[in-house]
Amino acid sequence: MLLYVWTTMTYLAVPIAAKNPDEARQQINSAIAAGAEMLELRTDYLENLTVDLVRELIAAAKDAGGKRLPLTVTCRDSRQGGAIAYPLQLRLDVLTTALKAGAEFIDFEYENFLIVQTQERIKVALSGSLKGRLILSVHNFETKFANIGKLYRSILTVYPVAIPKFVYQADHINDCFEAFDLLHRTGGERIIFCMGEAGVISRIIAKKLNSLVTFAALNEEAATAPGQLTIRQLKELYRYDSIDAETELYGVIADPVAHSLSPAIHNACFADAGMNRLYLPLLVQGGRREFDQFMRNVLSRKWLNFVGFSVTIPHKENALNFARANQGFIEPLAEKIGAVNTLLISKDDRIKAYNTDYAAALDAIASGLGITRAGLRDLPVAIIGAGGVSRAIVAGLSDAGAKIKIYNRTLERAQRLAAEFGCEFAPLDDLENIDAKLVINCTNIGMHPNIDQTPLPKEYLKKGMAVFDTVYNPAETLLLKQAKQVHAKTIDGLSMFINQAAAQFKLFTGQEADPDLMRKTITNFL
Ligand code: NAP
Repeated sequence: MLLYVWTTMTYLAVPIAAKNPDEARQQINSAIAAGAEMLELRTDYLENLTVDLVRELIAAAKDAGGKRLPLTVTCRDSRQGGAIAYPLQLRLDVLTTALKAGAEFIDFEYENFLIVQTQERIKVALSGSLKGRLILSVHNFETKFANIGKLYRSILTVYPVAIPKFVYQADHINDCFEAFDLLHRTGGERIIFCMGEAGVISRIIAKKLNSLVTFAALNEEAATAPGQLTIRQLKELYRYDSIDAETELYGVIADPVAHSLSPAIHNACFADAGMNRLYLPLLVQGGRREFDQFMRNVLSRKWLNFVGFSVTIPHKENALNFARANQGFIEPLAEKIGAVNTLLISKDDRIKAYNTDYAAALDAIASGLGITRAGLRDLPVAIIGAGGVSRAIVAGLSDAGAKIKIYNRTLERAQRLAAEFGCEFAPLDDLENIDAKLVINCTNIGMHPNIDQTPLPKEYLKKGMAVFDTVYNPAETLLLKQAKQVHAKTIDGLSMFINQAAAQFKLFTGQEADPDLMRKTITNFL
């Protein structure tokens, strides 16, 4: 009797999706050089596909780079995402040839495997192969499966030694939890992950939950499915090589999240400290309902090991409300500011909520001006913007005794914030009469990609002013460039960003982060 030994390994597979043999050989070499652990030969991408061509490419893959990586061969049905619509008979010829040529895995659509003659052909080819294994895959490019557990059981009933593979579109990050649950509930070899931006984390967490394979593209242009990360992102940004079942999870909850630099800096600091922790981009779309659902999903699955979160646009108030509704600990300052940017889940499942923006901004301003916080007393400050960041800065500066005037596009918002903290307010048009020693931009104006915009025309800038731009991408905004031209003092948004991230790192780990490493990491990414 043939015995299959279940491994606990997750292979990092790179799809070889080339139109011709030369391109395929190049991709094979690049994938091996980039650190792929498995190659997936997507023969449905090859123009003029023949079984001879498949044999030739399998031989090339075996010889490449002095390394023999496990090989999966597929010729995907175009109804399940295949690139070129090849007939079923040719696709079967390709898979049976692949087994004869020594491929370790063939990947075939479960739907087509249910056709009796097809199934017989595949089974005969498998019985003639010493090591070849069958992945039976089901793709849903639209949405979740109605009942993924039932589908999993039916695949194993039809062919008990198959490796079930489920890939579905996540419309929301909350859709990923069904994939995690199935991985958690089942042992042995199976491949389960989600597509789309909302599904990105499932491709990373797949390793922690011991999915047999996770896929990564050679580069962004080579991605074969929505949301596929590059092998470089997985390895360098998301610490792929160090992920295991014990890895603690952290992340930034935001929408949008793709631009966030938080994963880069926190993962760099975790790596530097030799900690088995991973920081993820958590795209939580929607409002309070979706945020609460995400947190409930996390809290009800202790085995995922989620421990801490940074929270940013648009969820800072939702995080505060969630902590309140769940009788969590809320740092008095966060309660006063009305926004939370850091959440922790303690060992007894209690939520703890903090705001590190306030102190981060005050320290960035004080050190930028070369004074202590006490030196901010009576300083005339103009704050442009009345959103979340403005709120934390207004709270901090008003505690420090500064004289604040808030300018905002939506005047009522400025008025409300000013009333709360006893400040003045004015419309943006009044900036022409600006008379402040410190000007702070708390709007998105000047942020990438709109780098040729500024919230304050150059003619209003004066030599004796100090200018702080909270925007950190780019580090030197047009506002700061023009402030330098009139010899005003400048403070960039990176200082505040690093301060708030360093304070979060301390809350996450109890240890100090290295601010130089944080700055260097960010500079590399900008
Ligand atoms: P937010 O709550 O959405 O507030 C955005 C503010 O910008 C509002 O006052 C809004 O005015 C104003 N605004 C946006 N577009 C504008 C436009 N075209 N013209 C005039 N005003 C405009 O966002 P936030 O959380 O406060 O973040 C604001 C900025 O802070 C971000 O872009 C980011 O660069 C920066 N930030 C920096 C750090 C750091 O650590 N350095 C951390 C977080 C954020 P209305 O009220 O009229 O909509």
